[in-house]
Amino acid sequence: MNFTLTIMGTASAMPISDRNPSGQVLAVQGRLFLLDCGEGTQQQMRRSHLSFLKVEAIFISHIHGDHVFGLFGLLNTMEMYGRTAPLHIYGPQALGSVLKFYRSFFGEWNTYEILFTPVDCKEPQLIHESKWVRVSAFPLRHKIECYGYRFDGILTERRLREHPEERPKTYAYCSDTAPFPELPGWVRGVDLLYHETTFSRGMEDKAVKHWHSTSEQAACCARDAGVGRLLIGHYSSRITDFDALLKECTDIFPDTRAAQDGDVIEI
Ligand SMILES: [Zn+2]
Ligand SMILES: [Zn+2]
Repeated sequence: MNFTLTIMGTASAMPISDRNPSGQVLAVQGRLFLLDCGEGTQQQMRRSHLSFLKVEAIFISHIHGDHVFGLFGLLNTMEMYGRTAPLHIYGPQALGSVLKFYRSFFGEWNTYEILFTPVDCKEPQLIHESKWVRVSAFPLRHKIECYGYRFDGILTERRLREHPEERPKTYAYCSDTAPFPELPGWVRGVDLLYHETTFSRGMEDKAVKHWHSTSEQAACCARDAGVGRLLIGHYSSRITDFDALLKECTDIFPDTRAAQDGDVIEI
């Protein structure tokens, strides 16, 4: 089964010259799932040759600009391309109001339907199911309401007959969050865990103040959750030494990769 993650952006807070804000595309058997949609996401999708029309669903973690400012341009482009397939969008309730505001100025989408489902859960909850994947949401601990998303691949009976040794792949996306005790349990054993790493070791006070995590806290989550691999991103613009940042993680959880814009990762 094909589970391919492409990184649109790794910056926090705002775009900088060589980094875009948060956005990831998970491709599952040719269907695309977009995780967050910071400014520049559609240009990044073009650079990575990912079709806007193949996006089945968009999952927004929270309504901070660095995770959502790219959404409206993308929705508009989908219409210009004459998209007809309905588009699922998931996110906190407040996203519904933002979408409504946008529509009030830029009109209804004529070519395709937007199916917005607010996410509202205190523990993991299944929110989306399609042929090859189930998606659950779980709450994160951030300054405002914020959710992570977990993807569990589905092996159809036919697929299992043809590939009896195969096991379903799993991915979890934890955008902006401070550490909290339940999180490792909710992402337990996934093949790949993305966990934000806004700050490096020694910047714990800033992490607490802004409801983010440090490199060490992300690595501890990966270790405690017993995941296969850890992917870090959402870097503060103060971070310039990525080798040092990565080492802070690998000292705790060796199989860590520091995401860069445009990276393609097979899960
Ligand atoms: Zn952010
Ligand atoms: Zn945020």
